Amino acid sequence: MREDSVTNPQTNQQLFDSARDLMPGGVNSPVRAFGSVGGTPAFMVSAEGPYLTDAEGTQYVDLVGSWGPALLGHKHPQVIEAVHAAVDAGLGFGTSHPAETRLAELVRSRVQDEAGRGAEMIRMVSTGTEATMTAIRLARGATGRNLVIKFAGCYHGHSDGLLAAAGSGVATLGLPGSAGVTEAQASETIVIEYNDRAALEQVFAERGDDVAAVITEATPANMGVVPPGEGFNAFIREITSRHGALMIFDEVMTGFRITEAGYWGASGRVEGWLPDLFTFGKVIGGGLPTAAVAGRREIMEHLAPTGPVYHAGTLSGNPVAMAAGVATLEHATAEVYQHIDRQADVVASALGEALDAAGVDHSIQKVGSLFSVAFGTSATGVSNYAQAQAQEAFRYGPFFHAMLEAGVYLPPSVFEAWFLSAAHDDVAVQRILDALPKAAEAAAAA
Ligand code: PMP
Repeated sequence: MREDSVTNPQTNQQLFDSARDLMPGGVNSPVRAFGSVGGTPAFMVSAEGPYLTDAEGTQYVDLVGSWGPALLGHKHPQVIEAVHAAVDAGLGFGTSHPAETRLAELVRSRVQDEAGRGAEMIRMVSTGTEATMTAIRLARGATGRNLVIKFAGCYHGHSDGLLAAAGSGVATLGLPGSAGVTEAQASETIVIEYNDRAALEQVFAERGDDVAAVITEATPANMGVVPPGEGFNAFIREITSRHGALMIFDEVMTGFRITEAGYWGASGRVEGWLPDLFTFGKVIGGGLPTAAVAGRREIMEHLAPTGPVYHAGTLSGNPVAMAAGVATLEHATAEVYQHIDRQADVVASALGEALDAAGVDHSIQKVGSLFSVAFGTSATGVSNYAQAQAQEAFRYGPFFHAMLEAGVYLPPSVFEAWFLSAAHDDVAVQRILDALPKAAEAAAAA
């Protein structure tokens, strides 16, 4: 915004025009653009609790939650206080400091079994992309093998080898992958359909000795939410162990958000949950840029400086980001998760009811508090990317805009999950419920 924005406020349209002139698509990350839903993006200027406010002063109930970090809601008082205290102490030291260890302790204590197995050691990085990229390099370095298996529709950030058949913005834009990724890089990633055990068996039967790792979202949520089939994660655990490959659980989205058995991410709730490596992001940074690779000690010790696998970062473990992460995890109590789960149940049921009432065929895809809607899929459900892509995605634009018009900010893509927070009280939830019937009718008319 221009400096005179307070005395001379600009409209969303004016801001979008300037942004488009200066930045490709007017955004710094593709899914923020209203590419698949059309229209002018709202330019937000403040966020508090469950609400966002745009440059025109319109307030929205926020169901994006900064794409995941805002577990406690925006501007949680204790998180802001911790960040202020960290800022007062200096923005960064370029050295080790106590808050890194504190956040690592919090992650480890919540991601371990009775025997202490799980996130035994942690390396802080700045983004989810960096976390998965580093986990892949670590897996290759530790196993001496090259191949990586990923599942279609899973998004693991935008490092070259992981962009093949990726979800999130790659799915929204309908891209097969990305220009600029060499064939050599792509050829070392094998992509198979999610939930397809036979395909996984076959790849391992043919090339098992070359597989460094299988990377999977603990619960995929970048092609809409797609629950793992009964025992699927345990099957990945078993087949990777059998062939000496590593299992990487990408919990950038799910980590410290989805919970049933404890509040440590989707891994806590599935049979055979114990992967070799985890990646975390979003919630653990409390809204500031932090993510992490974690896992078994003997694998993590392959990282420099103890081992030969290089990773470094000027801003890794930044003290302000660590303070936000520590305060967020300290306040992410069982009650917080129970509240979010409850509110997610209320919103997801009302969504289903509104669509039923309007006669819109759909399935609600839900795991814990993460959910999404897939139109025209009730006959098959959605258990993989092919089914997610085959849905009536054209119904989402009108649905999205009717919600926006009613003051509810949804993810601007049908392939993204809806995020609730501890701050979504009954007043905020009621506003969502009130908006649903009209939006469902807009979806029906599409
Ligand atoms: N992995 C998963 C599962 C994600 O959902 C995301 C981002 N949505 C990433 C990795 C990449 O994280 P970042 O955007 O911080 O690079």
